[in-house]
Amino acid sequence: MATELRLPTTNIVLPDKDRFLDEHNPFEAMMSRFDRAAELLDLDPGIYKILRNPEKQLTVSIPVHMDNGDVEVFTGYRVQYNTSRGPAKGGIRFDMQVNLEEVKALAAWMTWKCAVVNLPFGGAKGGVICDPSNLSVGELERLTRRYTSNIISLLGPDTDVPAPDVNTNERVMAWVMDTYSMHMRHTASAVVTGKPLELGGSAGRKEATGRGCMIVTREALKELGMPVRGTTVAVQGFGNVGSTAAMLLEREGARITAISDRTGGVHNPQGIDVTAAIEYVRRNRDLDGFAGGDPITNDELLTLSVDVLLPAAMENVITSRNAPKLQAKIICEGANGPTTAAADAILDEKGIFVVPDILANAGGVTVSYFEWVQNRGGYYWTEETVNTRLEEIMTRSFTDVRALARQHKVNMRTAAYMLAISRVSTVHKLRGIYA
Ligand code: GLU
Repeated sequence: MATELRLPTTNIVLPDKDRFLDEHNPFEAMMSRFDRAAELLDLDPGIYKILRNPEKQLTVSIPVHMDNGDVEVFTGYRVQYNTSRGPAKGGIRFDMQVNLEEVKALAAWMTWKCAVVNLPFGGAKGGVICDPSNLSVGELERLTRRYTSNIISLLGPDTDVPAPDVNTNERVMAWVMDTYSMHMRHTASAVVTGKPLELGGSAGRKEATGRGCMIVTREALKELGMPVRGTTVAVQGFGNVGSTAAMLLEREGARITAISDRTGGVHNPQGIDVTAAIEYVRRNRDLDGFAGGDPITNDELLTLSVDVLLPAAMENVITSRNAPKLQAKIICEGANGPTTAAADAILDEKGIFVVPDILANAGGVTVSYFEWVQNRGGYYWTEETVNTRLEEIMTRSFTDVRALARQHKVNMRTAAYMLAISRVSTVHKLRGIYA
């Protein structure tokens, strides 16, 4: 009979001030929160050690024939953080800021995110250091296919299922699916999610992350006794997540008073016409020159006097430097890791209600799960079914995290980590260690 996995207690120390010195290392930021939740959960020390390390990390060199005849070699990563609850799940990003520490953090966040919303998945992430805006379509396709081929030993519907992330989209996912399928000699739709509809993508997947943000923002407003109608919202990042969340919140009656992207932002206290902004970006690629309000910087947007701040761009934008100046009542983290660990305490002190990334942006991976289920069943759902089921999972997860936060008198972030870590830990205990 298997004996219970319970090792002698060791001290799990709370994050100390020194941890915060490197405010910009996302893996450290993840670890600080993990440590705090582990301490509160009195996490089994053996499990604690297991969960502090990624299961697998792969770094690959990706040679690509460029259009001018040169060969360029790019660097890419795929990290599987934990697969105890199911296949590793997580996006692929193409960005100049990609590095192994970031990919490790993002893979860990995927693990916690899937556990918070109770999907039968582990967590992974991939990335390639590149600037896709400087690549032709042909170069982007060759890069994607060679990267896929170089990490193919990790991939598979039962092992590791990528999805879109920063600067990747349906088209890139189609190339990933095709490359994997060519190697396997059969069409394997369930190897990747976020595909075009025609290739087995799910209705509602593209909007899912933004829709999830809208749902949890609505729940947070309810929690604070504030109506959605007339609520003012500032959105940082106007990609897939930010623009969809802005549009859906506007539809619910909120007033979007500021938006931004990497080129800068616009502020309009009367409310920005989100549909016009989306149309502008579709035609011009970014918000540069959009005349819907007064120009502001990304930093200024964060400290505006609004009810809801929705950071939906990159990591580490809310730091110990600007957190004291924030005026929002609610922060809904559409991006992964937008707040540094050092800023958490400041936001707490200011009484800002934070819906943490691993809950707030879990709508995307939730509909990825629906896509994977549909691919495996070969039976497709209507958009209405997808949205109803997404709504159920997001509201239930919000309620679960809120209840845990109340019970332990902690903030929503710590509660979300506690919920996720305890779910992953339970599975580890049941499975034991293979030796
Ligand atoms: N890239 C998205 C995220 O960070 C989606 C991941 C997925 O669907 O696997 O949550």
